[in-house]
Amino acid sequence: MQSNIPFDFNKVKELILKSENICIVTHRNPDGDAIGSSLGLYHVLLNMNKKVKVIVPNEYPEYLQWLPSNEKVFNYSTQKDEVKKIFESANLLISLDFNELKRTEKFSEQLENISAKKILIDHHPYPQDIFDVKISDISVSSTAELLYETIIQCGFEKYLSKNAAICLFTGLLTDTISFSVNCSNPRTFEIASKLLAFGLNKEYIHKKVFDNYSESRIKLLGYALSKKMVIIPEYNTGYIWLTIDEQKQFDFKIGDSEGFVNYPLSIKGVNFSALFMQRDDHIKISFRSRGIIPVNEIIKTHFTGGGHKNAAGGEEYKLNIAETVKKFVSILPQYADVLKQD
Ligand code: 5GP
Ligand code: MN
Repeated sequence: MQSNIPFDFNKVKELILKSENICIVTHRNPDGDAIGSSLGLYHVLLNMNKKVKVIVPNEYPEYLQWLPSNEKVFNYSTQKDEVKKIFESANLLISLDFNELKRTEKFSEQLENISAKKILIDHHPYPQDIFDVKISDISVSSTAELLYETIIQCGFEKYLSKNAAICLFTGLLTDTISFSVNCSNPRTFEIASKLLAFGLNKEYIHKKVFDNYSESRIKLLGYALSKKMVIIPEYNTGYIWLTIDEQKQFDFKIGDSEGFVNYPLSIKGVNFSALFMQRDDHIKISFRSRGIIPVNEIIKTHFTGGGHKNAAGGEEYKLNIAETVKKFVSILPQYADVLKQD
């Protein structure tokens, strides 16, 4: 953690201790860090005898549905009435792995008007100014890491359990892509080590998350790489684009394109990589980069979205997929200098 940031852990502790009904929320299209952090905190709060509910805006991939207490998660898109009631009775709302309400999309308006106190624990830049306490640090690997620090700083270590550790470890593992990115700080490995000490089976967790794909997903990846990947050597850039028809041919399920965006980046000389997925009413965009290329700024400037310097995502609602790709290629010359790094 950046030691110069004066986080108010006392306030977090006080709010948690005095709240009986606690609601944990995370962003739409939840990833491993979002679900891992949410369920990790769920287990800790449950051990503190709190009434705690985890709410997600929409469905998430099968490779996360094995986590302990996954069946307790409320999905707003299918359980609207239950979720509204939970919001009404909540004394405390803890937002994990996102920092602007619009990333919860479907229930952002309800969150804005909720009377509960709000805590943020997150590692994205530019947090919205609507939280009573912000534990926000872009230097950590993941929200799971920052949540672990928060649990320790609040003196709640004794409430950690093996189930909580499995969930938090999954957050660390997924946001660092199996400890390959965002984990040069020794603290990340110290925390991983503390979590493993709860008796986790790292190989099992890795298998559940990364080796749990359907045959059709692997075939879609093969198709994407052989037929739909374009490399632009002069701008050190690579991208993949897939239409809905192509996705359907391979029986596409949510989460199936997870990780596709990393493949162009694994090619020698490629520093900037993009994935364009056609959805019913928009194009889902993912950007990844190396070093100084600020993909969160690039996506915010030319499309809608945000994220981290080297991993950002967003959407394009106005252009079709071919136009989106064309626009993407047309903006590259503006970034020629940063794209050309070693
Ligand atoms: P992904 O490409 O995996 O969807 O997203 C990469 C990163 O960008 C993640 O850290 C995610 O939280 C962030 N991100 C994805 N979509 C959006 C978006 O629409 N808005 C913002 N602000 N961040 C996003
Ligand atoms: Mn995260």
